[in-house]
Amino acid sequence: MAKIVEKLVERYFPLVLMPRNYREMKSFEQAASNLFASLPLPRRSIDYRDENLNRTFSILEHTKKGNLKKFIIIGAHYDTYSENCPGVNDNGSGVVAVLVLAKLFRRLHTHYSYKFVLFPNEEPPFFRTKKMGSVQYADHLRDKELDPACFFDIDCIGWWGEEIQNTAYQKKLNKDTKSNFLAFLYNNKAGHVVDHALDYFPGKLEVAYFPECDFLDMTDTFIFRERGFPVVNFSDSAFFRKDGLYHTKHDTLEHINISAMSKAISHIAGFLVHLDHEEVL
Ligand SMILES: [Zn+2]
Repeated sequence: MAKIVEKLVERYFPLVLMPRNYREMKSFEQAASNLFASLPLPRRSIDYRDENLNRTFSILEHTKKGNLKKFIIIGAHYDTYSENCPGVNDNGSGVVAVLVLAKLFRRLHTHYSYKFVLFPNEEPPFFRTKKMGSVQYADHLRDKELDPACFFDIDCIGWWGEEIQNTAYQKKLNKDTKSNFLAFLYNNKAGHVVDHALDYFPGKLEVAYFPECDFLDMTDTFIFRERGFPVVNFSDSAFFRKDGLYHTKHDTLEHINISAMSKAISHIAGFLVHLDHEEVL
């Protein structure tokens, strides 16, 4: 499975190697259209206007139907921090992960339905405003009276290593300061998901758990958390790894650990399938 995932990761990475920031709108739109074309069918684009900027942004969504109407969202933001930050890890890596998961799930028989969603404008100046793609999407679902059973967000999943990193955060984690674990951030509403994760991941992937963690409000999880849905964020905890790369011009492909990232995605996929089979959500 990890090998198949690795091939898909390599196939999708070129889609996120171009500027994806509202200050370079032409390139941002081109990236959105390439990503849209790469989502499996049926797919749709939910567009919204920012009148101040005189620009239209697109939320990209693929829906995979299961036996049940109950649905799970698996999302990632596809914009970047600035026109000077390539954003290959933040959050090209999360986008690639969502595309891979959509592809893997496409032909599976599942109990639940799934919405694989790519959001624009998670980064400033949109962060935590009405113009954030995930806020627009949450409003769109609310208008349609659609409540997700869980929102899984993937934000930064490409920086891994066995090197010792003495960051304060990793010390706090008591993780012997290596960057070799997947951070699993969740709200209390997602406690039942964690119970299963504690059974599923040992022996497969090193996972560190953060209940009701502040960082849930630093990304697209925030609006779904605020509205009372179960939320989980998967991350490499990028701010604390690879000092000096996060939100800089050095967030490039050469710093991505493709094989570790592929391993993490394949275990996330296995975990989501497990949740589906057990009808946990
Ligand atoms: Zn991000």
